[in-house]
Amino acid sequence: MKPYPIDCVSVVIPVYNEEASLPELLRRTENACRQLGRDFEIVLIDDGSRDRSAEILQEAADAPGSHVLAVILNRNYGQHSAIMAGFEQCRGDVVITLDADLQNPPEEIPRLVEQAALGYDVVGTVRQNRQDSALRRWPSRVINMAVQRSTGVAMSDYGCMLRAYRRSIINAMLACRERSTFIPILANSFARHTTEILVGHAEREHGESKYDFMRLINLMFDLVTCMTTSPLRLLSLVGGGMAVAGFMFGLLLLVLRLLFGAAWAGDGVFVLFAILFMFTGVQLVGMGLLGEYLGRMYNDVRARPRFFIERVIRGQALPSTQTISSSPVVESIVK
Ligand code: UDP
Ligand code: MG
Repeated sequence: MKPYPIDCVSVVIPVYNEEASLPELLRRTENACRQLGRDFEIVLIDDGSRDRSAEILQEAADAPGSHVLAVILNRNYGQHSAIMAGFEQCRGDVVITLDADLQNPPEEIPRLVEQAALGYDVVGTVRQNRQDSALRRWPSRVINMAVQRSTGVAMSDYGCMLRAYRRSIINAMLACRERSTFIPILANSFARHTTEILVGHAEREHGESKYDFMRLINLMFDLVTCMTTSPLRLLSLVGGGMAVAGFMFGLLLLVLRLLFGAAWAGDGVFVLFAILFMFTGVQLVGMGLLGEYLGRMYNDVRARPRFFIERVIRGQALPSTQTISSSPVVESIVK
């Protein structure tokens, strides 16, 4: 592993209705970045917020000597699409992702950059004293285990977005045109050297989690379908096993009926019902899973852009060279 020279660091932060956290976020992130002793930019993507977030971002980018690059999307596309929009606009040799709600302390940025400079492609993080409810912790533990099994990349915490990616990984991710993606896993599938460091984790101070139950389910399916098609295979295996078991059970019932008479079989009717329900259940689960893959394939076949950028507002401290964007910018204000 060779040391990696880093001239410029980009911090990419998706923002959705976070007006209460933004002032502190901007202040703390900027302070942390100043300690890097390197050129830096803070790319904030407004993911169609309905509060004042977009205006706050615009003001931050407009301020004299600002290092902020504000990317305003025209509506809400979800956290991971918003981050992709940020990736497309940023120009750092190393890119750090971060949540806007200050659950990931921006003060950890220098440590991540340090690790990336050692030559790691991806620097992951493990949350010390994780400040989430048990309802959020358990599903993510199960997911982490599943991901580890199927990708072979040993990382213990995929839920934490505070991560560092090297430029080559960002370019690889931008080349992926699929819409439903889960960035930490996508990144790992292109990484050769990865490492993990322990970071702090705080409770959300302002507002609520933007993931309600349905969004969490969707995220979980995104995560599963983006990394593997093996659940489909598992499904046919389970289905096959059940069909064989069902056939054997039918034979057994037939034999018992011949031995003990028709009255016995009449009593067994409820057993049949039970089996029927069991099969129907498995079939429905299977069809649902198929549907999840099909739905995502349909979306990819339609090949709609992952997001539409409405405006890009560049802080004065940033060079005016525009990154080449493959996605349409509705109206671009570049200073
Ligand atoms: N977020 C976003 N678009 C969305 C949902 C969330 O950009 O549709 C952002 C949100 O502003 C925050 C980050 O993604 O910066 C993580 O969201 P949240 O803190 O609600 O997730 P949790 O910490 O509960 O997993
Ligand atoms: Mg959060």
